[in-house]
Amino acid sequence: MTSIPTIPKTYRAVSCPGLNRGFEFVTVPVRDPKPTELFLKVLASGICNSDHFLLDGMWPGISYPRIPGHEVIARIVSFGSVVDPRGQYKVGDVVGVGWSGGYCSICRFCRKGDFAACVEQPVTGFSHDGGHGEFMYAPQNAIVTLPEDSFKNSSYAELAPLLCAGVTVYDAVRTSPHKPGDICVVQGIGGLGHLAIQYAVKIGLKVFAVSSGSAKKALAKSLGAYEYVDANQTDVVQHIQSHGGAKVIICTAPSSKQISSIIPAASRYGVITLVSAAADGNVEVFNPFMNMRRVTLRGWACGAAHDAEDCVRFSTMANIKAMVREFKLEEFNDAFEDMVAGKPQFRNVLVFPE
Ligand SMILES: [Zn+2]
Ligand SMILES: [Zn+2]
Repeated sequence: MTSIPTIPKTYRAVSCPGLNRGFEFVTVPVRDPKPTELFLKVLASGICNSDHFLLDGMWPGISYPRIPGHEVIARIVSFGSVVDPRGQYKVGDVVGVGWSGGYCSICRFCRKGDFAACVEQPVTGFSHDGGHGEFMYAPQNAIVTLPEDSFKNSSYAELAPLLCAGVTVYDAVRTSPHKPGDICVVQGIGGLGHLAIQYAVKIGLKVFAVSSGSAKKALAKSLGAYEYVDANQTDVVQHIQSHGGAKVIICTAPSSKQISSIIPAASRYGVITLVSAAADGNVEVFNPFMNMRRVTLRGWACGAAHDAEDCVRFSTMANIKAMVREFKLEEFNDAFEDMVAGKPQFRNVLVFPE
């Protein structure tokens, strides 16, 4: 049932007032949306590791104060005068807003339709305010349309992380050259890894999930992994190579040392994709191995809104969900500290009443 949200005079949100100044709760006055904007009532907003960039300035060009949140499921409250001349959006519809905060439409990448590569690409929650509040404004070209059936088996909180974490690993797996049954190694079983395992399995790959210790073995198997490999007990490279080597390797663990160690598990023409933001040193490669095996090492990050739509559609069809823990807005500090401490299983999500 579509409910029509009422327009308040103010709303509550979490905001970062400036570099190294932490987060605070704020009250934001409501204004009319700009001609190209939608005004949205937030239903769920995933907390992502990269929200931390607001605190430490790791991302260039952030202006303050800034409300974070780039994994948002929200209901349309109103929209500007030039939004949607064809009547695609309706007040009350539920839509998504992800990492990609739109695109410029005039750079050479946009003119080729490669919106994820836009040289001026704004980022939701960095360039403009995001979803860690009761309401938000979003540019029309950042809107992720969601098919009605995506809500049948998934909660709003389960859908939200697909718009950053989900689309990152979904896009990384689907754009890695492979055939059904090829070996895929997913290194690290966390917020990104638990989704990467599911996508790779449902796309038809034989997944070896790699982590340290035995704690995540049962989970990896339940997500469909062909085998769980404990890096503390097994020579991972030797083991993967005994199966023929990995055509696809998705590195989700934010550790340059671990990434470096898994590269030699690639098969001939294998593609290794780095999706984590490992900032603890440089990744090392053995050059002759890369040459002789014609191995590719590449990085990958979130796609544009249409990539997120593909991700949600595929996730709905294949019954892939993010594992989440829900928090209220006023519990933000607990939820954020839990994430920074690396405790979540696996995504902490702010939820708001309908
Ligand atoms: Zn994110
Ligand atoms: Zn552009």
